[in-house]
Amino acid sequence: MSDKSPSTEKKQVSAIDRKERLKIPPLVTPKQDSKERIKNWDEVYLELDIEAAQREASRCLQCPAAACTHACPLQNDIVGAFALLEQGDIIGAANKFRETSPMPEVCGRLCPHELLCEGHCVVGKKGKPGAIGRLEYFLADYQRKHEGWPLPKVAPPTGRKVAVVGSGPAGMVVAEEVTKRGHTAVVYEAWPLAGGLLRYGIPSFIIKKSVVDDKVQMLEKLGVTFVTNTVVGKDISVDKLLETDFDAVFLGYGASQPVKMGVPGEDLDGIITATDFLVRAGVPTEHLPPEWRQPIDPGDKVIVIGGGNTAMDCLRAALRLGSQEVTCVYRRTEAEMPGNAKERENSIEEGSEFMYLAAPIEFLGGERNRVRVARCQRMQLGEPDSSGRPRPVPIEGSEFEIPVDTVILALGYRVDRLILETTAGLEANRNGTLIIDPETGATSRPGLFSGGDAVRGPDYVVDAVADAKRAAAAIDEYIRRKQAGET
Ligand code: SF4
Repeated sequence: MSDKSPSTEKKQVSAIDRKERLKIPPLVTPKQDSKERIKNWDEVYLELDIEAAQREASRCLQCPAAACTHACPLQNDIVGAFALLEQGDIIGAANKFRETSPMPEVCGRLCPHELLCEGHCVVGKKGKPGAIGRLEYFLADYQRKHEGWPLPKVAPPTGRKVAVVGSGPAGMVVAEEVTKRGHTAVVYEAWPLAGGLLRYGIPSFIIKKSVVDDKVQMLEKLGVTFVTNTVVGKDISVDKLLETDFDAVFLGYGASQPVKMGVPGEDLDGIITATDFLVRAGVPTEHLPPEWRQPIDPGDKVIVIGGGNTAMDCLRAALRLGSQEVTCVYRRTEAEMPGNAKERENSIEEGSEFMYLAAPIEFLGGERNRVRVARCQRMQLGEPDSSGRPRPVPIEGSEFEIPVDTVILALGYRVDRLILETTAGLEANRNGTLIIDPETGATSRPGLFSGGDAVRGPDYVVDAVADAKRAAAAIDEYIRRKQAGET
């Protein structure tokens, strides 16, 4: 741990220094060669060496205004961490991130940096911004490798219990934060292992499973209990949790219901949702329920419908399974694609093709009811729709066919309504997202809190982490008021 206070950590960078710092070449993040990496499921980005990380940190202008921090949903003290890294205090720098982030190794990997911290980096106005995410997870990984995941201090036990529904990022953070405050946390997970989206939704070439394993083990060491293979709302109700054992419940079940296209032939064999595909393709079979263990063979010709990060994950997973012609079919243009540009670049490097301004209108089957052809239609961009992006408008008479072996639907996710339908007193929007007090995460029913994708719909992991921190503080407050007889 660093014993330096933040005020001594930060340097005053003179105008001359700033000029010199702006001349330092930006980090070239080492990656596995694209031809090699499609033969494995290891992370694309290779480890950094300390010197390269320190050099990159020394590009930071130590701006007192720290626009990067203000753009970070967790308000990470990036300038303070980089000053420590530059001085060689690697553990101190890692701890600087941990002061505000319960999982820098996760957010550093998964954040859309170009829209958040790095998008606001002053160095980025004249060139490449600081590689904030890359350095964040370099520091966190280095610390875990050399010292293990540091355990936070835990307050004396209060004898109070909190149930957490879902062990994805939001659920894990609530469990950690309420445990730190002295409460007992029990996390319920539908899958056989804890980790939620991080284990079952995001492929290991983006985030290695050992990061998730380490976080789960760290929480277990802290005293958190995980109850897996249990669907809350089916195997046990929220009411039962509240009646029997728990003072409060955090609903962090995310948004995992795939959106369908609603076109003829969509139910043919060989048409699969992104979740089904990614889970079967990339999660070790021993971590799956028996009914999910059938191996997947997508064949040579694969199309992925959709343009977000999940679509990129599917393209890249198909290439790793040996498919030869892997094409993203997207109804708008690249400029409107919602995902992370870096992941799109990685996908192109690996051999994915992109077909813009096109959408399937029908799927045709062949032998044994298996999809054989996607009939598509060309699109043109029209007036903006409710998302603010130009609406794709079909061009009459432009139909064409693509021969396919497998079609993967990566059109986005909706929240599951199971808990909403089995729990009285919960208010929700028409799309099923829960209505909460944004300051506290409190739902319409006392004792129930929520955050992350169950409230936002599919969104960034870092926002779920920030929601979870706020909700945990509010749960603590709620329990203490309850103990004092105020509720
Ligand atoms: Fe940037 Fe995300 Fe890290 Fe915040 S948590 S500093 S936004 S990478």
